[in-house]
Amino acid sequence: MLKKKISKILIGTNNRGKLREIKDLLPKSISTYSTTDFNLKSPIENGNSFKENSLIKSKYFSKKTGLFCIADDSGLEVDCLNKKPGIFSARWAGTKGDFKKAIKRVFRELNKKDKNWKKKKIKARFVCALSICYLDKIIASVIGKIEGSISTEAKGKNGFGYDPIFIPDTKKKTFGEMKLSSKYKIDHRSIAFKKIKKFL
Ligand code: IMP
Repeated sequence: MLKKKISKILIGTNNRGKLREIKDLLPKSISTYSTTDFNLKSPIENGNSFKENSLIKSKYFSKKTGLFCIADDSGLEVDCLNKKPGIFSARWAGTKGDFKKAIKRVFRELNKKDKNWKKKKIKARFVCALSICYLDKIIASVIGKIEGSISTEAKGKNGFGYDPIFIPDTKKKTFGEMKLSSKYKIDHRSIAFKKIKKFL
């Protein structure tokens, strides 16, 4: 493990929802930079797992800026869809990041799989791989998960992505209906964060 304390870090994401959440989770003593500060586009995420993709992003942005970089790769796994959309979660929303479209696709795939899915508990989870790299060196890489189920309809306007259709097991509301502060306390990213904190 690197002994030097991290005082500056780049948050390696072009997703504003995630940027905000990661920023809120980092200690206030660390100065943060975003990819837009450096006008950086995201690299091609061609890994086979959340972990591989988080490492690709973290190393790429670190090498581009010479800063430590924290990057995540995350997504929704629906058990009866063979864990889809999984690492393709962002891609199901198309190039315009249209999550109404991505959510419709989840419902369409569920309908194809089982006409009665709305009467069943459709088990799902959000997964977050979080990595810190310095150039090509891996400082830390961890995984956080939150178990839940898919709502029969999209509910709530808070959060981002698939939040309106995900009900965590410990609650009755979707992430989209919950206050951001309540979501942050329990979600996959904050679980991963608790694990990576000791490296900061
Ligand atoms: P990536 O990690 O940027 O490749 O994209 C992950 C995608 O997974 C996001 O664009 C969202 O669609 C979805 N996702 C990840 N975390 C969350 C979350 O906390 N709420 C809702 N959707 C999420």
